Amino acid sequence: MHIHEFESAMKACRFCFMCRHLSAVGNVLFSEADTPRGRALLLDKASMNPDFLFSDAVVETMYRSDLAAGCRFHCVSHYDENGLVLAARRDIVEAGKAPARVAEIAKKFQKDNEFKLEGGKADVLYFIDEYTLRQPEISAAFLKIAKTAKAPVATITGGCIGKALKILGYVAAGKKDASTFAKKVAATGAKTLVVSNPAAYDALRNDFPAWGLKLSCKVMHSSEFIAQLLKDKKIKAAGKKKTPVYYLESDFLKNYNDNVPAPRAILEALGFEIKPFGTNNEESYSAGEGACVLLELNPELVSKLAKQVASRADNPKKDRILTASPYTRFVLRKETELKIASLEEAVAEVL
Ligand code: SF4
Repeated sequence: MHIHEFESAMKACRFCFMCRHLSAVGNVLFSEADTPRGRALLLDKASMNPDFLFSDAVVETMYRSDLAAGCRFHCVSHYDENGLVLAARRDIVEAGKAPARVAEIAKKFQKDNEFKLEGGKADVLYFIDEYTLRQPEISAAFLKIAKTAKAPVATITGGCIGKALKILGYVAAGKKDASTFAKKVAATGAKTLVVSNPAAYDALRNDFPAWGLKLSCKVMHSSEFIAQLLKDKKIKAAGKKKTPVYYLESDFLKNYNDNVPAPRAILEALGFEIKPFGTNNEESYSAGEGACVLLELNPELVSKLAKQVASRADNPKKDRILTASPYTRFVLRKETELKIASLEEAVAEVL
């Protein structure tokens, strides 16, 4: 069983309540099973009695996790409870016990691996994933920034690059889609691949190398690309007015990738004044970004998570809130009145 690879987390987390406040799902459902300790206790029992893992209650608990990984990032010993849950999902899938709705979503992603190239040959290739595609304002803003900097960009759109499948527990299928994408990117001859979606960034930065897939180009999050344009003086803010904004951390940029500094750096460089959001800087306010397809899996839960984020805003109807995550932008616009925009939109507005 894959959960045995995370024995240390299982043993440490099952008796520890230190990071219970970092489970966004636990915070909205008020259930102990939805905390790192609760999940580790269940999986510890499952490691001695595998059939227990396949009980409806345990399977549902594993697929309810928001996978924000704030527990791992802020744990003093960085125990990987997040990895433990992903391993449990993989065990569930490989035993043929995935719930029907999970299998259905996975089937859709396995079919959906066609990629469309546009814009001819360019050194920079911009990947428009599903959540970015659903919100054309994000890619339009990114392309406006690139145009201002006179940086030619080609685009690659659609398809699954393996992240959603891996998160659902379909690791082999995820690797297959990742390999298709890597070949498609190599054929373009691009030197830099830029992504707006932090989930895609994490897939390209961490999952691809772990699967032995080498990309032919450098991978950058859009905020890193913009930071480079600022450094090279290819773009600058048009005015000097300080604009107050709240920035919601991305699970994938912060907790999965050592707190990528570019989002905050570009906002500060372009004259935004970042105000602290919520009650602390450890909790996830992404409404389930780490679980990638939580909206498809459990829309009621995502609605609760989004409303919890809104309840933390100082002035929900007026505050200008920014996110690096197209997923978070989408669900907070769908479920709340928050005035939320992407980093790209905020940057494009001030050039
Ligand atoms: S991740 Fe660390 S803080 Fe959280 S339950 Fe496990 S051991 Fe405790």
